[in-house]
Amino acid sequence: MYPQSLNDLIESFKMLPGIGEKTAERLAFFLVNEDEEKTKFFADSITNAKEKIHACEVCNNLTDQDVCDICSNSLRDNTILCVVEDPKSIFLFEKIGTFNGKYHVLDGLISPLDGIDPDDIGIEKLVKRVREEKFKEVIIAVKPSIEGETTALYIKKILEGIKDVKVTRIASGIPMGTEIEYIDSMTLERALSDRKEIN
Ligand SMILES: [Zn+2]
Repeated sequence: MYPQSLNDLIESFKMLPGIGEKTAERLAFFLVNEDEEKTKFFADSITNAKEKIHACEVCNNLTDQDVCDICSNSLRDNTILCVVEDPKSIFLFEKIGTFNGKYHVLDGLISPLDGIDPDDIGIEKLVKRVREEKFKEVIIAVKPSIEGETTALYIKKILEGIKDVKVTRIASGIPMGTEIEYIDSMTLERALSDRKEIN
């Protein structure tokens, strides 16, 4: 049996996605053998991130300010909005670097089978934004899946009713069910540039 504090550390690592017992033990042993400065930095980073990182007031991206860097950047194109399903997707699109519009992060995707309705994913905040801002095109860049299609169609339908805005969907070429984060950047870039209007 491990000492309690070491056990706590192992249990903490096991909370992380993809970390099992063996890896958790290896990481815990690694850390207790590191010098104090490094482990303090590690511990402080967790506390700081948790304390300071929250959703951007405008787009729900992760930020340590009220409004994120992308929303407050006046050099970005404010006529085109890319709707994603999580903040991670923004980092992926930013890494490609070809998209220069704004983003909006949904809180997941509509999934009637799981009881997840439009209200649950924050569609209202998106609608309000499209109504108030100057977007001419809204790109739905969520993963190709039944939930993704349902969400895209719902957004298209609801936005059509309020404003003359083109609603597009990133192109296929991405297999159904693939998580955005596993798509290589070239495919993702092509999917973005070959986007199609939703019919
Ligand atoms: Zn933002």
